[in-house]
Amino acid sequence: MSTPTASGAQRAPWRATVLTLFPEMFPGPLGFSLSGQALNTGIWSLSARNIRDYGLGKHKVVDDHPAGGGPGMVMRCDVVAAAIDDARKVESEVPLIYMSPRGTPLTQAIVRDLAAGPGVMVLAGRFEGVDQRVLEARHAQEISIGDYVLSGGELAAMVLIDACVRLLPGVVGAESSLAEESFEDGLLEYPHYTRPREWEGRTIPEVLLSGDHKRIAEWRQAERIRVTRERRPDLLAKAGKS
Ligand code: SAM
Repeated sequence: MSTPTASGAQRAPWRATVLTLFPEMFPGPLGFSLSGQALNTGIWSLSARNIRDYGLGKHKVVDDHPAGGGPGMVMRCDVVAAAIDDARKVESEVPLIYMSPRGTPLTQAIVRDLAAGPGVMVLAGRFEGVDQRVLEARHAQEISIGDYVLSGGELAAMVLIDACVRLLPGVVGAESSLAEESFEDGLLEYPHYTRPREWEGRTIPEVLLSGDHKRIAEWRQAERIRVTRERRPDLLAKAGKS
């Protein structure tokens, strides 16, 4: 199935495959609102595959003790490789991503690249993580959603997929709203206001009620720079703005 783009051209659905021990967690939040509608209309597709299906023996074992000792369990390389290789039979093109606190921090630039491609295959870890050898042998790109540790990679996979899906053509109603969003040109977004005009003694900045589009655009750009300078000076430095 393909979906029409803004230009009328047909685009194949963007495909997300998740390798997880908890496939029943999907689509979860991804089945709601914009991403859910886009899933229903075929703009993207989702396949959650159970790593347990590739587990060993009667008990479908997927983990073992860490080599060298220490706490916790590690997902076995042979089991995870079998899950990846089977998924690759139907999904040979998409990049393999392992959600990991040790990975490259996820940014809007990475999201843009992934959304522009055919899709993603996302490996969600559990326990202490995955045997390093399978990550290397299957060329997994490690991506982190932040400097904190989750109990599993499923929520992280959802974050990554949601961020990609909303960039697909036809998902967000006014695509112009994407262009002004936080991180699009290295800045955070300006603040928003709506009715009522006055609330608990607080008013909307006068310029936004002026109807003067040039002044409004200038105010918003100035606010973007002010907010970014206050909250994320690192972004301002990267964007090369003084
Ligand atoms: N022992 C690992 C460490 O200290 O780096 C943490 C393992 S964590 C309990 C289990 C799984 O959750 C990981 O394999 C990974 O898939 C996922 N995870 C946890 N925090 C994450 C984060 N910040 N970003 C992406 N994935 C994360």
